[in-house]
Amino acid sequence: MDIIYDQGQQNIAEKISPTAKISNWRDWKWQLKHSIRDIGMFEKLLGIQFNASQKQQLQETIAKFPLSITPYYLSLIDTENYENDPIYKQAFPSISELQVGDFEMRDPLDEDKDSPVPGITHRYPDRVLFQVSPICSMYCRHCTRKRKVGDESLLPNREQLSRGIRYIRNTTAVRDVLLSGGDPLLQSDESLDWILTELRNIPHVEVIRIGTRIPVVLPYRVTEGLVAILKKHHPLWVNTHFNHPREITESSKEALSKLSDAGIPLGNQTVLLAGINDSPVIIKKLVHKLVQNRVRPYYLYQCDLSEGLNHFRTPVGKGVEIMESLIGHTSGFAVPSYVIDAPGGGGKIRIAPNYLVSWSHDKVVLRNFEGVITTYEEPKGYEDSFRNLLSDELQASRILEGASEYKAIGIEKLLSDTDDTVSLIPENTERIERREHV
Ligand SMILES: *Cc1c(COP(=O)(O)O)cnc(C)c1O
Ligand code: SF4
Repeated sequence: MDIIYDQGQQNIAEKISPTAKISNWRDWKWQLKHSIRDIGMFEKLLGIQFNASQKQQLQETIAKFPLSITPYYLSLIDTENYENDPIYKQAFPSISELQVGDFEMRDPLDEDKDSPVPGITHRYPDRVLFQVSPICSMYCRHCTRKRKVGDESLLPNREQLSRGIRYIRNTTAVRDVLLSGGDPLLQSDESLDWILTELRNIPHVEVIRIGTRIPVVLPYRVTEGLVAILKKHHPLWVNTHFNHPREITESSKEALSKLSDAGIPLGNQTVLLAGINDSPVIIKKLVHKLVQNRVRPYYLYQCDLSEGLNHFRTPVGKGVEIMESLIGHTSGFAVPSYVIDAPGGGGKIRIAPNYLVSWSHDKVVLRNFEGVITTYEEPKGYEDSFRNLLSDELQASRILEGASEYKAIGIEKLLSDTDDTVSLIPENTERIERREHV
């Protein structure tokens, strides 16, 4: 039999299917088909044993929010130390999920309330969230959309997706569409190509973004075929969801490279999770590994108030401490923005340590990352010239349009319809000089 990546992966593959080859392991459909969906299979594959009462509670937990782990993601679990393992904790249910606090909510971000048509959340003026599928290859235990992700009965058909697309087409303010889910990249190539083509044909949609956990949990989904489709629809941005440096493996690096090489700008959204990544050391390692793989850390999220996530939440102070350890201490582009997504649909709110210590009418007092306290003198006699200029429509369009690189010269200038020069006059023309002296 062929050698699969390492012995651990080979053992798992053989237990799933004695005839499995490396070509199966690296086939995303094989991975999906053999995803681990019950506790018994999990125990068998990893040689871990739960007692009867634990099993009973785990069953109740997965009845509420399904279990699904790709063999690939499962193979990353450190079986010797699984209870502290960040992969295990993100993938395997905890009975704490059954505890629902008074302050927790099914839909804390009011995504379903701010929804003009099913699947669309229109919260901000110029962009929408479009949930195209409730299915994921691995169900993250900390998922903010636990209320509906994993429920296959919610899978939209083409008619329902068309309603979302129609809303975007009829709403000219939408210049940025964020495809999310579930995982948009779990659809077939054909279906994804259809959605992207429809969106690309809408003139006011400037940018399309895809939020996906595929590079983390099922990197083999990033096939040549998928990349060929994505790159047809530029400008297309992809945000992925790495939470821990252990998730950055050879296979995930390969997937990221393919996407990057196709000209897709990559970002990453991390959720701050207790016992998984709530340490400045871990987050710093993560952001460094991300930028080495051409992924720009985008957001660090405070864990939402969704039901059953209490054991994952950290105090906000932990997030501020982590930001304090990053800003100034490492490359600016390796620092994500720390955000709290406000309950009730208020949207993302950026939280950062305070660097502005004090302020008067002509001076600000600042501190830097080392604790140096310094001042910045405000300019004298500043005038805001654009306030008036931009209120004039003609001026505004001249200022905001991209500059034209093409400028006619010489006789061409006289012939051009877009230039109103009437004559070209050589320098030192005596006749003209006489005129000027009159
Ligand atoms: C996060 C989010 C967006 C995108 O927000 P950005 O800050 O532009 O990344 C858009 N709509 C909804 C509902 C969101 O939750
Ligand atoms: S990939 Fe995203 S949508 Fe899917 S379970 Fe994880 S966090 Fe939720």
